[in-house]
Amino acid sequence: MDYANIFFVKDHYYFMSMALEQAYRADREGEVPVGAVVVKRGEVIAKAYNQVIKRDDPTAHAEILVLRKAASISKNYRLAGTGLYVTVEPCLMCGGALIQARVNKLIFGAFDPKMGAFGSIYNLAEDKRLNHRIEVESGILEEECRKLMQNFFRKRRRGTEEAVTGSTRNRFVL
Ligand code: ZN
Repeated sequence: MDYANIFFVKDHYYFMSMALEQAYRADREGEVPVGAVVVKRGEVIAKAYNQVIKRDDPTAHAEILVLRKAASISKNYRLAGTGLYVTVEPCLMCGGALIQARVNKLIFGAFDPKMGAFGSIYNLAEDKRLNHRIEVESGILEEECRKLMQNFFRKRRRGTEEAVTGSTRNRFVL
């Protein structure tokens, strides 16, 4: 039996749980629930969650924020030897940032069929024109990561429906 591999897989769940904790924080704050952590030599060096609304910043995705923190802590804009765990497949912008930062490994939970750049609408990991190869693993705690997203959008849709079907309906219909 390959015990080294078992411990490695266990670590994946451990770190993804930490990314999920970040995603739950985003959810509580009304942000699309995505969380991320950067890991180096088995240690978490930075954590972040999506904050586009709070910061009025379309680039404030969990991955961008966590890369900024990790680079600042490492005092190096290149994050060689790191792995980034994120609850949802990164978008094109974040995929670009992961490549710029030279992150070695990306581990994500759920696929994002609308925006995902690592298998869904693009696959940056397999584009041979790019000079940095990023290793990818997906499906870690996938169900929980996906449900958190689905519940968030369901709640948001319900909120909109209640708003437009209530007595103050005309105020909400543009
Ligand atoms: Zn993104």
